[in-house]
Amino acid sequence: MRKSVVAIVGRPNVGKSTIFNRLVGERISIVDDIPGVTRDRVYAQGEWLSQQFNIIDTGGIEIGDEPLLQQMRYQAEIAIDEADVIIFLVNGKEGITAADEEVAKLLFKSNKPIVLGVNKIDNPEMREHIYEFYSLGFGIPYPISGSHGLGLGDLLDEVVSHFPNNGDEEVNEDTIYFSLIGRPNVGKSSLVNTILNEERVIVSEMEGTTREATDTYLHKESQDYVIIDTAGMRKRGKVYESTEKYSVLRALKAIERSDVVLVLIDAETGIREQDKKIAGYAHDAGRAIVIVVNKWDTVESNEKTMKEFEIKVRAGFQFLDYAPIVFLSAKTKKRLHTLIPSIKVASENHAKRIPTNVLNDVIMDALAMNPTPTLKGRRLKVLYATQVAVKPPSFVVFVNDPELMHFSYKRFLENKIRDAFGFVGTPIQIFARKRQ
Ligand code: GDP
Ligand code: GDP
Repeated sequence: MRKSVVAIVGRPNVGKSTIFNRLVGERISIVDDIPGVTRDRVYAQGEWLSQQFNIIDTGGIEIGDEPLLQQMRYQAEIAIDEADVIIFLVNGKEGITAADEEVAKLLFKSNKPIVLGVNKIDNPEMREHIYEFYSLGFGIPYPISGSHGLGLGDLLDEVVSHFPNNGDEEVNEDTIYFSLIGRPNVGKSSLVNTILNEERVIVSEMEGTTREATDTYLHKESQDYVIIDTAGMRKRGKVYESTEKYSVLRALKAIERSDVVLVLIDAETGIREQDKKIAGYAHDAGRAIVIVVNKWDTVESNEKTMKEFEIKVRAGFQFLDYAPIVFLSAKTKKRLHTLIPSIKVASENHAKRIPTNVLNDVIMDALAMNPTPTLKGRRLKVLYATQVAVKPPSFVVFVNDPELMHFSYKRFLENKIRDAFGFVGTPIQIFARKRQ
């Protein structure tokens, strides 16, 4: 099920990032255990009334050095393209400005649900300031105070009420959905085209699935695949593409719908910081991952160069140690045949279930091999484990006290599970729970 997307739009200083931070709580500042994976500040996950959604602070997206008004137009357009519901934020202390009216005009034409938040209404006496905002034409203005956390509940009730019923989106469980992410120019569109020219057997739409404009079907060896084409989403052209945050946002949207994410790296230019960041998103989202080293035609290819490049990839992407690496050339089609099988394997592992008894045999062997750690004189006791979810495979280990389950011991158990069951291409999660 696709998560709904909420975007916050408004001119600078109305309080967009304050509200954004409120809605995402601590999540945003979480830094992964692995260095180098920090969450972006323009896109994060929020939750209200147990509904999870993704939220974009468009104020964090700057496009070139355009003047303010143009920036705001771009930001509004991005919100219109990407969001299911838009929060239009204004400043109750300052009243309506020309810039507010400009944004209002764009939003008005969009046919998207708009919820008007009047921020900086820090106390009840200030509520009378909201009335003038009726004239913007978006219905009831919601008085809120981002810094005091007031009024957000009512605003969010309204936002959530406009969510499309994404539960109706039908996904064919047997179909493997995959997307390609990576820096501009790594060869995403080239690879999509090459795959389609080489591999496509069936082009027809599949019954009972929701089709998005950017989806393409292919069928190979009795397996259906859908390519979610991020590169093909370039409908707004160059000006947006140049923006790192915007391309990240697009990638995130595709990741959301994918089973498997292909993380593309350019063999010619090598690994860059941005590659790690993009890959970090796919990892954080718990998707299966295949690392694709594209433009392999530009490198003198032999066992040695491949090994050397692999070492670089492993060093650069330590958090993706489970991801297989495929070397190929979208241009010459060299080694292209290795791609689809890797996607299939990663996807199967992503959905794999391990029976509880088999799992516990492995856990018990692991315990025998490496005694559990102690903390302040107390020893971790592991009672049993069970797999609670797939995509990604998630395990709960029942213990005497979760505090005693040190990160490194968890890592040890993860390695043992991987050794035994071979979860190539998928992250796995392990949670320690107290056994009642
Ligand atoms: P953005 O540019 O729209 O993202 O705005 P910010 O979130 O950065 O906020 C701009 C300024 O307004 C900051 O100094 C905030 O502390 C302040 N601010 C945000 N929300 C409120 C609020 O509800 N009441 C008051 N009085 N100030 C606020
Ligand atoms: P995107 O921005 O990630 O979609 O990248 P494109 O598919 O537009 O490719 C960017 C550039 O890299 C183009 O000039 C492509 O012709 C070139 N390119 C893509 N794949 C390969 C490849 O495998 N080998 C070489 N030598 N060039 C490639």
